[in-house]
Parts: sequence; C-alpha cells; structure tokens
Amino acid sequence: MKKIIVQKFGGSSLASPERIKCVAEICKETQYNEDCSLVVVVSAMGDTTDDLLDLMVQVNSRPNPREQDMLLSTGEQVSIALLTMALNKIDKKAQSLTGWQAGIKTESIHTKARIKEIETSRILKLLEEDNIVVVAGFQGFDNNHEIFTLGRGGSDTTAVALAVSLGAERCDIYTDVDAVHTSDPRIVKKTSPLKNISYDEMLELASLGAQVLHPRSVETAKFFNMPLRVRSSWHPENLGTLVTDNTNIELNLKEKKEIKVIEGQKAVRGVAIDKKQARISIIGVPDEPGIAAKIFGELSENGISVDVIVQCVSNDGHAELDFTVKRDSAELAKIEIDRIAKLVGAKRTSLDLNVVKVSIVGAGMIDQPGIAAKMFKSLGQKGINIQMISTSEIRISCIVSEKEGEEAVQVIHEAFGLSEISA
Ligand code: ASP
Ligand code: MG
Repeated sequence: MKKIIVQKFGGSSLASPERIKCVAEICKETQYNEDCSLVVVVSAMGDTTDDLLDLMVQVNSRPNPREQDMLLSTGEQVSIALLTMALNKIDKKAQSLTGWQAGIKTESIHTKARIKEIETSRILKLLEEDNIVVVAGFQGFDNNHEIFTLGRGGSDTTAVALAVSLGAERCDIYTDVDAVHTSDPRIVKKTSPLKNISYDEMLELASLGAQVLHPRSVETAKFFNMPLRVRSSWHPENLGTLVTDNTNIELNLKEKKEIKVIEGQKAVRGVAIDKKQARISIIGVPDEPGIAAKIFGELSENGISVDVIVQCVSNDGHAELDFTVKRDSAELAKIEIDRIAKLVGAKRTSLDLNVVKVSIVGAGMIDQPGIAAKMFKSLGQKGINIQMISTSEIRISCIVSEKEGEEAVQVIHEAFGLSEISA
C-alpha cells in the first residue's frame, strides 16, 4: 500500500465552481508528485454554514439541536459531491463519503460532538481500488445512526483525526493564507511567514485569536504527533508552515526529504491580539484566606471562565482583585461579581469593556532572559500603559486599552524584529 496523505480544504478554497476545479487540480498534482494515496476532507462552500444558520433562525431561532445538525451537515455534502465530480472530470477515480459512510463515530452531543473513533475499512478499500476518497468534514454519527456536527471550524479536526486513524504521513490544511504568520497582516504591515512552528506555539496562537487552525485539531495532532502543514490553495507551490514537535526539521516536498534547519530561531515567533476581553475589578476585598477561592468558585459555578488574574494587597488589610473574562460574558460576570462582592464584604466593583490582550509567543522564551523586559519597554516607549500581565512558559500577555491595542501589536512586532525573519 502506498503512503497516505490527508488534505483538507476550507470553505474559501471551495467557494465557487472555479475554485473547486483548482482544488481538484491540486489533488491530482499531489498524487502525481508524491505517489501517494489521497484522502481529501472538505468544508462547506464559502459562507454556506453561515447562510444555513441564517435560514434556520428565520424559521426558528431556538431549533431542536438535532435538526440544526441535520441542516448544517448538508453544507459539506454539497462540497464532497462537487469535488468528486471535478476530479472525475480530469480523469481521476474518486468517491465521496459522508461522515457516516466514512465511519466517523462521535459522541452523542449535538452541535459540538467530539470524534470517538473512525472505522477506516471502507476508506482503505476505496484507496486500494485507486480512488481519491473525498470525505465530508465537520460531521459524524453515533451508535443510533444520528448525525452530529463537531462545532464551528470542525473540519480541521476531521482531517487530523482521519490522518491519525489512517496512519497518514502528514495532514495538509489548505486555507486562504499562505502560511502561519508572525502576526495578523491586517494589523502589522510587514509580517513574516513562519516555515515551521511547534504544536504548543500553534495552540497558543490559535487560542489567542490567530484563527488559522481549529485548536482541537492542533491538540489531536500534538497528541498523536501528526505533522500538519498549513498552506494556501491559491499558491500550492508554497510549502506554507509545518506544525510539528521538532521545529528544526523542514520538509522539502519536491525532493521528498527532511532538511535540518541549523540556524537558530528567534525566541519570539509571533504577536497575537485577542480583542474579545473585558476587565472586572473587585475592590476593598478583605484580605483573608479562602476569599479568592470563594470569588472564583462562585464565578465558575455560574459558567464564567476567567482569564488573566491580578491581585494586589494594600497594608490596610484589603485587597484588589482584577481579572478578565470573555467580552460576551462580561455583563453576566458583572452581575455575578456584584452579588459576590456583597457576600464577601468587598467595597465596590467595576467593569471595563474596552481592553484587549496582546501576547508574544515562542518556545525559545523559556531559556532566554530579557524577553519580558523588552516587550514592556517597547510599550512604555510609546506611552502604552500595561494594565495587567500574565505569563506561561511560552507566552507573555499584557492587557492594554482597546484603543492602543493595534499599536501595541505593531511596536512589539517591530521590537522583536519579526518583519525581517525567515523564521
Ligand atoms: N463548515 C463548518 C463551519 O463553517 C465547518 C468547517 O468549515 O470547518 O464551521
Ligand atoms: Mg476553518
């Protein structure tokens, strides 16, 4: 049996008949160049999923989730049939499969199911018969043959799960950007494409709002050590970004070999901004053991998850606690915190909806001193006030005011010389 490669094409790559024909050509070329068996996972065309959701709310704004899955899963089915027809047209043997036909078993949780296992025998048989197998992303079925979807953006996860189950050599995610970049090109003029990135760095960037890959797909790839490649369906000749554990390995697709990248990498690989933050303060909290547990316990019981937390204690026996929450849960969080404030005897509370989180990410930060200082200095020189700071091993985040957020990204990107790298 030949080696298997899984390719995934997102909605924008399939938005029109012309685009679908281009995708068919990419599949044909890959199979020819790499002499491999090919499994192709597709999303719904263009904005189809949003359009279906629009239709849905016009009929019923609170539909039964089962029917919502029934509706949304149709988008991907249009794509598999059309792409298979396009492949047939250029003399490629191909067959389309729905999630059910492809053996993708999920949990029985409508609109956000996780994949449990994949029964791959049908796909393997089709591959052996020399077919390109085109699979609907974002959907699966349970033991009762009910249809479930995986949550928005879930086709990436379908692709990675298939790659893992089939023992594929790698999984290529084709999208409308040519690579993962050092920052958002809409904010920073001169971003650089990253040739490679580690799973952990990608996870930090994905969850920080660099919406290239579905975080669950990166988690799965990391767990099973499946190499991912993010690349553009407009420029398939570009190698894009390789997501692996070993960022010193570069894959040369043409020569089909791995090259070791000897040159050292920058400690900071990317600057991300999360604009969906809000800051809540609770002031004059009695400085006693157990108070923080009480406050955050109550919040979590009410389904509010907290991100950055800062506490400072003054010498009058009181503390101030500041934390951020997702902006769309801020109003609810404020109501809760007002209630909790009374409970614990705090003096007052406040809510600021106009804050953002700016973060630098890089696995090399662990053993390089001075990174945080450099970040703070670049902000200070521009008079940008840092309201809160939080760190992980490979990330430093600052909460700043929303109106200074984009400038903050620009100055940090500049300070770390990220425009000039071939990282
Ligand atoms: N079509 C689905 C969505 O738009 C799944 C996907 O594209 O990954 O969320
Ligand atoms: Mg997507």
